Amino acid sequence: MSINFKDYVANVKDFPEPGIIFRDISPLMQDGQAYAAATDAIVDYAKAKNVEMVCGPEARGFIVGCPVAYKLGVGFAPARKKGKLPRPTVSVTYDLEYGEASLYMHKDAVKPGQRVLVVDDLMATGGTLAATIKLVEELGGIVVGTAFLIELTDLHGRDKIKGYDMFTLMQY
Ligand code: 5GP
Repeated sequence: MSINFKDYVANVKDFPEPGIIFRDISPLMQDGQAYAAATDAIVDYAKAKNVEMVCGPEARGFIVGCPVAYKLGVGFAPARKKGKLPRPTVSVTYDLEYGEASLYMHKDAVKPGQRVLVVDDLMATGGTLAATIKLVEELGGIVVGTAFLIELTDLHGRDKIKGYDMFTLMQY
């Protein structure tokens, strides 16, 4: 059975601010078959790249990335918001589609030379992705690919991360 993934995205008008259409992936996560199929699509992409570690930003990056890591048989390295990680960290501050944010990773989350796949639920401006890539590379990791359920093409996030391969399941 082929799945039309967009059937599992709820388009929420004026969230979190007026004028924004929020692409809510909760329906996809709530459906076992759709969630598995989305995970498998990213896993297939990652397999060709000999990924050794998956990294994703808080919090929906965990929802997308952890099942991918499990299926690949590799680890998952979270990029988290301020004050969440208990041991020494590296950090980066970046612009969001709405506001500013910082991300942190444990200094030992990625080993130098490790082949890393960076994942998240959605790429808008690409700021979160660029920040996560920066953290992984600061730790010596090699970003061999990036993967998203959704890419908002009008925001040209790809332009921020030229030179990195990208897989996206849906485009809006
Ligand atoms: P960017 O940094 O690319 O501008 O924004 C992407 C980040 O914001 C991702 O971590 C994503 O979870 C969140 N985000 C922004 N807009 C949306 C949206 O419409 N739907 C979802 N699910 N996440 C969004």
